[in-house]
Amino acid sequence: MPPASAEITLRTFIGGVGGYGGMAAAIHFKELIAMKIRGIFLDREKSTEKSVTIAVPLPEKVIIPMTQCKGQECTPVVKQGEWVFAGTKIGDGSRMAPIHSSVSGRVAEIRNMYDSWGNECSAVVIEADSEQKTAPSSIPSCTDRTSFIDAVRASGCITLDGTAQDTAALLEKAHDADTLIVNGTESQQYITNDLRCMMDNADDILSGIRLIMQYMGIQKTVIALSADFKDAVSAMEKLAQGNEGISVMPLRADHPNGAEPVLVNNVTGRQIHHGETAADQKVLVLDTSTVAFIGEYFRTGMPMIKRRITVDGDLVRTPCSVEIPIGMPISEVLAFADTNLEAAEKLIIGGLMNGRTITDPELPMCKGDNALLVFMKPIEAGKGRLRDGEDSTACIRCGRCVEACPMGLMPLKIEKAFDKKRLSDLKRLRPDICISCGNCSYVCPAKRDLTNKVIAAAGYLDRRERD
Ligand code: SF4
Ligand code: SF4
Repeated sequence: MPPASAEITLRTFIGGVGGYGGMAAAIHFKELIAMKIRGIFLDREKSTEKSVTIAVPLPEKVIIPMTQCKGQECTPVVKQGEWVFAGTKIGDGSRMAPIHSSVSGRVAEIRNMYDSWGNECSAVVIEADSEQKTAPSSIPSCTDRTSFIDAVRASGCITLDGTAQDTAALLEKAHDADTLIVNGTESQQYITNDLRCMMDNADDILSGIRLIMQYMGIQKTVIALSADFKDAVSAMEKLAQGNEGISVMPLRADHPNGAEPVLVNNVTGRQIHHGETAADQKVLVLDTSTVAFIGEYFRTGMPMIKRRITVDGDLVRTPCSVEIPIGMPISEVLAFADTNLEAAEKLIIGGLMNGRTITDPELPMCKGDNALLVFMKPIEAGKGRLRDGEDSTACIRCGRCVEACPMGLMPLKIEKAFDKKRLSDLKRLRPDICISCGNCSYVCPAKRDLTNKVIAAAGYLDRRERD
């Protein structure tokens, strides 16, 4: 481990798009040593880490937006009044992850709505018949990489770590990968999906890894997880035992140790350069839940119609890890966890560091939503970055935001340059390589909303450069 002073000398000079997963960046080191990129240690509050996952009772209806996968919108392929099984395809598009019904029942309506990201989209509303009859399914049979990727696409698989990426597209990009990183780091507070997956679904993780290694021609797999997940480390070491090419790497429990540039660097020592993704460094990164889903799909033939989520927060009386059907209204998931929704001031989908707040609890849960967090009090500094901004004070130039940034950015300077619309400064300060990890806002004693400012600055820079 290099000395702390060396770690703080990280500076990023060039990069690509922002975003937590699939982001591109180049990291140049003032001191070129095989150093680990460090973030910050969060107060984890993972109260559901020992909770066995429970399947919630089926809702009376599901609302399934056609925007389940980042950047893609499927077209409904069913009509109002049609009867569907759990697993019937209801949405599709050219070379997209299709969408399947999560319940058996009748298509009550196809309508327009705004999804929880604020995107206008069409949605299929299905009234469940409570019989939960499943569509005839067959175990996919593959002969090569192409048929494997086609099968993964047909399953409707998107990444389950909150990034909602098209898994088949990631596999295609990683056609010459030599290393698979199974990402079980899950560094944000509260969320325990990957942790529970490693404890409850180790067999499916192993099957998924073997399938990916076999069909993608990958010789080496590293299961990377936070070192403080001690039970999961033991479970994964047991899984790896006797399986050639599979190893386990416990990492410092820093946030964001699972962000792609950080993870790839810390596991392989390879640096992701300007405009690249992990695939360009011959690395395929998939979270444990997605790998387990692939294993399960090739065991059962059932497409992605459900997922595990964490429900937690100070207004949730029974914090839990639950398996929900895709399209279940948020209010019903929260009712299952005995949540005092009336008192809620913050309803968050995803984590405290890079999730999003919503106001309508009747919105449905989507494939990419990994947590529901509900709080009475606005989130204070020290709990996350999704807090109200009105109590922020002037910057005291303490430098904590700079030290906490895993990408070596200077959030305080970016904020200033953005406020004054200083384009040349923004070009130099590179907000476009921000990975939206939330660390800068989290550590700021003045409670400045730095992350959103940096994201906004990146958008401004992009627009101006395209003009
Ligand atoms: S600027 Fe803030 S949100 Fe962006 S990478 Fe740095 S610490 Fe994370
Ligand atoms: S952490 Fe906050 S107060 Fe400290 S330098 Fe950064 S913006 Fe200023």
